[in-house]
Amino acid sequence: MIARCPSCAAEVEEDAKRCPACHWDFAARRAPAKLGIDDAAAEVLKRALKLEDFFPEFTAEIAQKVFPRSGLFAYADKGSLVEQGESGRDLFIVCHGSVQVERGDGTATKVLATLGAGSLLGEIALIKNVPRTATVTAVEQAQIYRLDFNDLQYLLANNKALGDHLRELASSRSR
Ligand SMILES: [Zn+2]
Repeated sequence: MIARCPSCAAEVEEDAKRCPACHWDFAARRAPAKLGIDDAAAEVLKRALKLEDFFPEFTAEIAQKVFPRSGLFAYADKGSLVEQGESGRDLFIVCHGSVQVERGDGTATKVLATLGAGSLLGEIALIKNVPRTATVTAVEQAQIYRLDFNDLQYLLANNKALGDHLRELASSRSR
């Protein structure tokens, strides 16, 4: 069954918790609020994305220039970042708070990990071009940087350290 997102009118699954296009949260009836990025968040991105050689200094201003489609978002408690089985190749970096990663196998749901500030996630779908392999929700309130797939292209093509890191992460988390 197909429904429509009340925010952007994209077609979504009837039981979707969140619109994959605009990230509208159906339970909360709003999209995660976009926050201004500050230099502390930029520093978290720099470490998580292995940008040291690319941008010895990576400030909030540079982040906004090189990642124009991306941004820092405030998620409410249990707000959904990613749903297992949906498509999507954005990366997520936890800047403040934490998220819970869980996987269902049809009958049971297992919590795989709780990831805190500095953690990067979403790399399996990105690297392997497969549907999301787990569901990720905010634990209490969390600030998450959502790195748009289109903003990543140049970095992926030119920053070998990041590509290697993402492949290693994807491989270790797929086991
Ligand atoms: Zn939408």
